Amino acid sequence: MVRGNVKNIKNTAVAFVTIALSIAVLSSCRVKLYERDVEARAREIHRRVLTVDTHCDTAFNLLRKDWSIGDRHDPALRASGKIDLPRMAEGGLDAEFFAVFVGQGPRTPEGNAIAREEALVGLEVIHKMGRDYPGLVGLAFSPEDAYRLKKEGRRAAFIGMENGYPVGRDLALLKTYYDRGVRYLTLCHSQDNDICDSSTDRDDPRDGGLSDFGRQVVLECNRLGILVDVSHASDGSFADVVKAARAPVIASHSCCRALCDNPRNLSDDMLRALAANGGVIQICFLSNYVRKPRPNPERDEAMKELESKYGNFREMKDEAIRAKARQKYEAVMEKYPQDKADVKDLVDHIDHVARVVGVDYVGIGTDFDGGGGVIGCDDVSGMFHVTEELIRRGYSEKDIAKIWSGNFMRVFRTAIEVSGRLSAK
Ligand SMILES: [Zn+2]
Repeated sequence: MVRGNVKNIKNTAVAFVTIALSIAVLSSCRVKLYERDVEARAREIHRRVLTVDTHCDTAFNLLRKDWSIGDRHDPALRASGKIDLPRMAEGGLDAEFFAVFVGQGPRTPEGNAIAREEALVGLEVIHKMGRDYPGLVGLAFSPEDAYRLKKEGRRAAFIGMENGYPVGRDLALLKTYYDRGVRYLTLCHSQDNDICDSSTDRDDPRDGGLSDFGRQVVLECNRLGILVDVSHASDGSFADVVKAARAPVIASHSCCRALCDNPRNLSDDMLRALAANGGVIQICFLSNYVRKPRPNPERDEAMKELESKYGNFREMKDEAIRAKARQKYEAVMEKYPQDKADVKDLVDHIDHVARVVGVDYVGIGTDFDGGGGVIGCDDVSGMFHVTEELIRRGYSEKDIAKIWSGNFMRVFRTAIEVSGRLSAK
């Protein structure tokens, strides 16, 4: 009797273990199959849907003599940059806005003239890319150009201008830049300028919003069909722009302040104002805007030291000095690794916008080569992983299409329509 019981217990235990193991094996197979299915579905969606990234600073690399956008560069190496045309194809990204960035300098006629020259050089290197690689990429000036280029199997290169500094005090220059392909204008960068106040000007933290000249710039952009971009603008500037603009506005690379408290991000009230205006926020991949990093005082100290010695990385004119600064920067990064956000943190921002104002007001603006990159999507070849996460969270293909291009293109088309109406007057 007792022996029989022991035997029974043993048999039952063996049976339990066998069942548990089978369930574990089966569920791990199911997870693997599900993940393979998610990946296949993501790739399928990228084949069907136009994908647009509204901000990168890759134009800097176009100026380099040791780098060519037509070559594939190893993503593991920092000097490779985050974007080249072969990796765009790999990651399933169809269209990229290349920013012509000019750092803020003195607000004087001389300063403005230098900024204008720099902008023209930046514009030229983007046009040159189109001439150098006609089989891989085409310049795009309208939504239709991007759809056509996708059909042709080529990447689309749009142009945005980051910082209105090169406009100086001369409204007529906006037409010059428009004619050279500029389709959005980020009104300011990290410092206040003649157009508006910046969200991060440490020298002058007062928020004066949009200036009278800035109001004219916004209206001239609306008349020409240049999208007005409020990324980098202060809260006061944002409010003034939304009020003044005759067409919907964009935030080409910003995140949600409710999830990551940073002046560069938009509060929920700002999201509501943007949606009421018919605009769109393009979620930025810059880790510090996505998730607050854990405190790392040693790293902050080392970075501060570097900054006081070299200034803003992107504003370095001398290539040799920039290379040296980059080397030092890499050494600091290696010694004190950055606490980086990942794709899940990033998609939390998309979820947040969808929850607060709806899925019709959110898109993607990586800021690759300007500091953008998260774990799981650290260069353009990883773009599929964002779509995979959206699928896992239950977004339909219709919604994913809106996020990747539908919402932004709606704003772009409306801006073109408004421009037509205003110019006809
Ligand atoms: Zn920026």
